[in-house]
Amino acid sequence: MLVHHYNLALVAVSVTIAIVNSYVSFSVIGRILHSRGWQASAWVTLGAMAMGFGVWSMHFVGMLAFDIGTPLGYSTGLTLLSVVPAILAAGIVCRQMASPKITTASLALAGTVMGAGVGAMHYTGMAAMRMSPSIVWDWAIVVLSVLFAVAGSIASLAVGVRVGLERRRSRRVAWRIAASVVMGCTVSGMHYLGMAAAGLRQGALCLTAHDLVHGRWLAMVVTVVALGVLVSTALMALAHQRVQRHSRRMDVELEQARSALHFQAFHDTLTGLPNRAMMMEKLRDALQRQEHSPVAVMFIDLDGFKTINDSLGHEAGDMFLCSVAAALRNSVRERDTVARFGGDEFVIALERFGGMDNLVRICRKILDLVSRPVVMDGHPMTVSPSIGVALAPRDGNDAETLLRNADAAMYAVKETGKADFRFFERGMHEMARERLTLTMDLRDALMREQIRVVYQPKWSLSSGQVVGVEALARWHHNERGEVPPLVFVPVAERSGMISMLGEQVLKQVLRQVERWDDEGLHVDYVTINLSLQELRAPAFADRLCRLVQEHEVDPARIRFEITESTAMRDPEQMLDQLRDLRDRGFSLLVDDFGTGYSSLQYLRQMPVSTIKIDQSFVRGSQQNFADREITEAIVALAKKLHLETVAEGVETQAQVNWLRDLGCDVAQGFFFNPPMAPEALGEVLRRGACALS
Ligand code: C2E
Ligand code: CA
Ligand code: CA
Repeated sequence: MLVHHYNLALVAVSVTIAIVNSYVSFSVIGRILHSRGWQASAWVTLGAMAMGFGVWSMHFVGMLAFDIGTPLGYSTGLTLLSVVPAILAAGIVCRQMASPKITTASLALAGTVMGAGVGAMHYTGMAAMRMSPSIVWDWAIVVLSVLFAVAGSIASLAVGVRVGLERRRSRRVAWRIAASVVMGCTVSGMHYLGMAAAGLRQGALCLTAHDLVHGRWLAMVVTVVALGVLVSTALMALAHQRVQRHSRRMDVELEQARSALHFQAFHDTLTGLPNRAMMMEKLRDALQRQEHSPVAVMFIDLDGFKTINDSLGHEAGDMFLCSVAAALRNSVRERDTVARFGGDEFVIALERFGGMDNLVRICRKILDLVSRPVVMDGHPMTVSPSIGVALAPRDGNDAETLLRNADAAMYAVKETGKADFRFFERGMHEMARERLTLTMDLRDALMREQIRVVYQPKWSLSSGQVVGVEALARWHHNERGEVPPLVFVPVAERSGMISMLGEQVLKQVLRQVERWDDEGLHVDYVTINLSLQELRAPAFADRLCRLVQEHEVDPARIRFEITESTAMRDPEQMLDQLRDLRDRGFSLLVDDFGTGYSSLQYLRQMPVSTIKIDQSFVRGSQQNFADREITEAIVALAKKLHLETVAEGVETQAQVNWLRDLGCDVAQGFFFNPPMAPEALGEVLRRGACALS
């Protein structure tokens, strides 16, 4: 047989081409995986061409490395034809490997196609070199070479699959290089095995030596072209990857911006809770879903929140609202919707809440959690929630009606004392409407200064003289007639008009004191009733002082009546405020004493000069032993604390006698006089002392 040898430099070039080609091919497969539609098809075509041509170039350069000492050449037609099986096989492999789910069967098929393609290319290429005498094939090695190609292809594709499984980029590159080396060695191994199968007889000549010249320049041209094709394909793949990565990042940013906008449109920025728009949407959904199980809507308003905002500032107010939001979230299940409707209003929607008992339990839980004191700026602050509940389908079938009814129920709670919950009942709307017209009428009356003040004398039980008077507000409504203060004072408190009302009362009182002084009538002091909201209004004491100074009235002649329950709200804070008033020269009196829960300890600390026994005890004293006992205890207690006692609601001679015997200092009531206009009071004052028995 003819001795042949290889040009080792060209062998090295051929193996390099094979490895580079494999690397580029795996990159292209990656691109196909990340593309769709026509882009994917374009990448399959490009990949098939580049990969097929790369394999063919490796083979061709390998052939050029083959040297038998006589000139060799190749028939152009067959040489060009040999590229076809390489491209076809490459195309099929690209398609197979780019499917998102690669099974063992598809891997084996792709490997087999690749191996067969490379084999077909090689032996077609060999046929392009016609020898005389012709080549003696060692068929065992031929078969072995094809089997080697198939096995190597399957192995390298199996390694290539790992590329897609890795998250880290560096690991992906490492797996791709490994797969490329295996594939490169497979293709070149197949080639050189194939060459080993070809036996050339002594004196053999190449009949195609004049077709394609076997020379260095051809090797260089093919190598340069092959590497050029491969490098440009690799660059295209890289550019495509960059563009895709960029557009993916843009997509992500766009999506983030979109979801941030969506969040803002449907959430409250302060608490992060859903807002009104979102709640309406959720409620509508829930109402559509509910077939047999009812939906409950709770409307929650905080009483006393304004005070926190006014006294501690908006930042503290915001913090407080966030803690309320958290408390509300903790009161219900994850799937219930808690929303903030703005200000201090919250709404909760519940589905499948498990019966009325459970709903009541949830309301109690909210009352408990939200009423707990929150320490802010070192002060324990509390608000009390008023909760109105409406149920679908009982109280309405659409979101708007349910909310309106829950709101009406919430108002009914406020009406009857706050810090409670109520279920919607028919008639609540009429009450709400009535309240609204009354509020508007009261505003009108205050603007026109139509509130009058009447005075009820306070009689000394020892001297029988008038020692002072209590100022009581009166409102004569054009259509309704006299509206009692027990009706309009709460309306003024709720609608924020109480300070205006209080100021009008105080101004009238100050003018009246001046008038009595001018007329030479002696009124020692006037007591004025104060509401909690008035006391809490910012700069209340300053305004008071200014008015009193304007009228040149001694502050000692103005006494303020504060109910025991008012004094008990936030005792710490209240003590500061009351001491401030005392320091400015005003006297203070605890009204309705015995109905609140003030402790002895607290009473001791309070800067008050007088306690006023609630009229219920005075009224009950003649029939009820307990009332009598309480009254006696109050008087005894006041004496111990050196406080003056006033009995109100005194209506009978018997009450007067009993109170005087007890040692009560002052009395007022219908027995002496009803509250009266200043002119009528002038008469009483002129008459002087009255006989007490
Ligand atoms: P109050 O401070 O406890 O006032 C005593 C109430 O008892 C007055 O009712 C008075 O007219 C009534 N009264 C007086 N003597 C007798 C009696 O012998 N028997 C009975 N049954 N009642 C008697 P009025 O004027 O209707 O006031 C009701 C409440 O409205 C007051 O209770 C007070 O809390 C509030 N109020 C009245 N005027 C003002 C005001 O200018 N500002 C504030 N914040 N509240 C006021
Ligand atoms: Ca009073
Ligand atoms: Ca009273």
